[in-house]
Amino acid sequence: MAREGCADTMNAFSVTVTESERLAFLEATGLVYTESPAALSNLVQLAGEAVNAPIALLAIVDAKSVNFKASFGLVMDPSLSRIGTPCEVIVTARRPLLIDDLHQRESPNYEGTSLQDARSFAGVPIILHERYAVGALCAYSTEPNAYDEETVKLLSRYALSIEAVIAGVGMRKALSAIDINHARPLDLYRFLSHGTELLRNPASGVVSIDQRGTVLWINARAAKLFGYLPEELVGQSINLLMPKDIASHHDETLRTYNPKSLRKGEHGSIIGDGREVVGVDRDGQPVPIHLAVSEVAGIGGQGSEFIGVITDLRKVKETEERLANETLLLGKLHEGLTNVNALLSADGLWAFLHQSLLELTQSDYGWIAEVCPSSEEKCIRFKALWDRNTSNKDRGLIAEILSRDTHISDDNSLIADVLNGKNEVLLDASLTEQQWQQLPLGRPDLQNFVALAISSDDELLGVVALASVNRRLDGDFVRWLAPFLSTCSLLIRLQRHNAEREAVMTEMQRTGEKLEAANRAKTEFLSAMSHELRTPLNSVIGFSKLLMTNPTLSFPDRQRLQLEQIHSSGEHLIKLINEILDLAKIESGRMSFSMEDLEIAGLTEETVKALIPLAESTGVRIRVVKDLEIYARADYTRFKQVLLNLITNAIKYNRPGGWVEVRVMRVGDEQRVEVADSGIGIKPDQLDHIFEPFYRGAAEFSAIEGSGVGLTLTRELLRQMGGRLEVESELGVGSTFSISLQSTSAPTHALETEDSDSSSRPESINPEDNAEIFSILYVEDNPANQRLMLDIFEGHPNIDIRLALNFTEAFSAVESQKPDLFILDINLPAMDGFEIKDALNSKFDCQNVPKIALSANALPSDVERGRKNGFTEYLTKPVDIDGLLEVVGKFVKERG
Ligand code: ADP
Repeated sequence: MAREGCADTMNAFSVTVTESERLAFLEATGLVYTESPAALSNLVQLAGEAVNAPIALLAIVDAKSVNFKASFGLVMDPSLSRIGTPCEVIVTARRPLLIDDLHQRESPNYEGTSLQDARSFAGVPIILHERYAVGALCAYSTEPNAYDEETVKLLSRYALSIEAVIAGVGMRKALSAIDINHARPLDLYRFLSHGTELLRNPASGVVSIDQRGTVLWINARAAKLFGYLPEELVGQSINLLMPKDIASHHDETLRTYNPKSLRKGEHGSIIGDGREVVGVDRDGQPVPIHLAVSEVAGIGGQGSEFIGVITDLRKVKETEERLANETLLLGKLHEGLTNVNALLSADGLWAFLHQSLLELTQSDYGWIAEVCPSSEEKCIRFKALWDRNTSNKDRGLIAEILSRDTHISDDNSLIADVLNGKNEVLLDASLTEQQWQQLPLGRPDLQNFVALAISSDDELLGVVALASVNRRLDGDFVRWLAPFLSTCSLLIRLQRHNAEREAVMTEMQRTGEKLEAANRAKTEFLSAMSHELRTPLNSVIGFSKLLMTNPTLSFPDRQRLQLEQIHSSGEHLIKLINEILDLAKIESGRMSFSMEDLEIAGLTEETVKALIPLAESTGVRIRVVKDLEIYARADYTRFKQVLLNLITNAIKYNRPGGWVEVRVMRVGDEQRVEVADSGIGIKPDQLDHIFEPFYRGAAEFSAIEGSGVGLTLTRELLRQMGGRLEVESELGVGSTFSISLQSTSAPTHALETEDSDSSSRPESINPEDNAEIFSILYVEDNPANQRLMLDIFEGHPNIDIRLALNFTEAFSAVESQKPDLFILDINLPAMDGFEIKDALNSKFDCQNVPKIALSANALPSDVERGRKNGFTEYLTKPVDIDGLLEVVGKFVKERG
């Protein structure tokens, strides 16, 4: 809300002057028409700067208009209609006026004038001879609510000086108009009465000196400014009020003073416009003043005399100094907080802030400390500690102090006062001996001491302490340092926050590392275990298959059954190993998925086809119900693995004469595959557990083969592909496992996959293709595996298998005859498969002979390493006999 009111700071004089009297006075002085001396512009500018106003002006209000006599901050129209103007209000009420927002007033309308952007207004009356309110000194701001009583006080001070200058001009006019020697008594009377009134006027300091610099007259205000009584100065040299260096040549300046050598208003001259100078008071202390000197003819034409109008600038200088100090402080804080390097190294920033603090406060000693966050006792941690006289030796000590907490054991110490809740401790030179004793022992000779609390939201975060401060210690000093303390509090909070975050991160990293190490250990264990199992399994599966498929052998039924049992147990074990390895890979995040847009209806049908023999063997009917084409995003191999698991389960956990139905359909935004069966079903309390690894529920003690890992793996695989697996089941009725996948409208690559699969499929050996002998050197140290290999190729008369147990046997075999193909085991004594391969290439010139690695190291990384390192093929144990035959067949064909 706009505030408009006559400020009470300056009481209206209890003088009644009618408007016609006031106008008559204005007319008599000719103020409206007289050109303003430059001193007035100077004072208006000073006033504007003192109240921080972008616009300031001096206006004289006559019968109709507001006449601008001097202005600062804008080019003025010479006059405006006075109706409704703040100046008219001031002159009529003879009081200062504050307006918070000019835009909320109806009149005057400043639209189109230079004042149209002005919002706030502060003005004080200009009153001459303590009677006549002739005009106003006004300050404007483009911001609303910019001014207050303090502004009015400052303006009033300048108004006094302006009144003195206007009165002085009036006297000079009178003086120049009167020929003293031939003056009429009335003129002389008027001159004297005006002059006396001016000189008596206590508002400004006025002094008059002769050409020798002797004080002829000085009013009380001027004398008081320098700490004297007028009678103490009259007859003394004016040099008494000047600093020594100026005083020494002042007499000479006065003696040789030639007004013609000075152009009117010349910059920097005290004659005419006046300027800021420094005087000296009775105690030798500097007094900043504005001095404007007028030259007048001496009485009776005897040489020149000088009248000086003195304005006290102490308040203005204080304000200026305060502003400059604030600017300096804010500048330092800005510099510190925008220096990225300093910010990154927090210690560097503390050192910088601390050094800036000592410089700004002109202190010899000081420190900044944080209150220990979680300490029960009184304890601080120094952030920066330094004094200007620190020696190298002391630096070591300081570094040591900075690196640890400092406990404050003496509860009577000055620092303890702050830790006990005092916001500030200010002790000046008049400290009592007892107070001094509260400072730490061994302290240097301190002149004073300050301790200030750094706090935020009533929480004490730290302390800033200074000693031997070369500034006045008072409320202003503390107020001035407020932004510094806030910055410290912000930094402490920031650092605490960062420390907390770092601690959490370190903990997380430690936990992560532990987990990773555990995972690594698990994977290593699993791969070692799988390697150890694969080698014997190679023999178990391979020999049992050979025995079963060898047409020359016929076994009694019982033995045949046993053979089949051996073979299926081997297959079962290898499936288990593969599933566990897959699970470990998923858990460690090392399983990679090649996601593509799959036509899942076709893929499901294909999978079901492959399982028909299994279903038939257990008397279960199986069928697929599907829409035409359904696309979903998944990894081909892994999705097929999922389907195989679920459909195999549906067949396994069924009953003779039961059925399995696999439905592929679209449900909303998702694609769904349901595997429903009429099997044994799952108990409700077991439903929650069937996805846990190795949990087999009711099947645990049944004859149905399984390991309890399949569903865990299936659900994880689906999760990784962005899908999910749900189950519904009723004991004795059947179960439905539902796969949901994200749909895609993109065309499938399934066909392409099929194509590429078939194109890359190796061809099997056709003995008719090539009647020539194809020789293979198989390097293997395990006799069972050697035997198996010989048995595999037994029915292929054109294949000649030679065996080597190790590298020496291998090299001598090559020396006698280079084979057409090498099959190398990897884990061999003395020289492993990789080394033998390299030696064969470099020493026996076998680069062009294809080499197959056949190893129990079956991790994808092993396969990749083998392929990258020059093996033409990398096959894993237990050997897939059909696969091996196909690969060998390819090389036989290539040689031909
Ligand atoms: P398993 O190798 O034992 O088949 P799975 O992880 O595939 O392991 O399944 C875990 C258990 O869930 C099985 O042992 C079985 O008790 C139960 N289960 C899985 N599928 C079915 C199903 N279609 N019908 C009834 N029970 C099932």
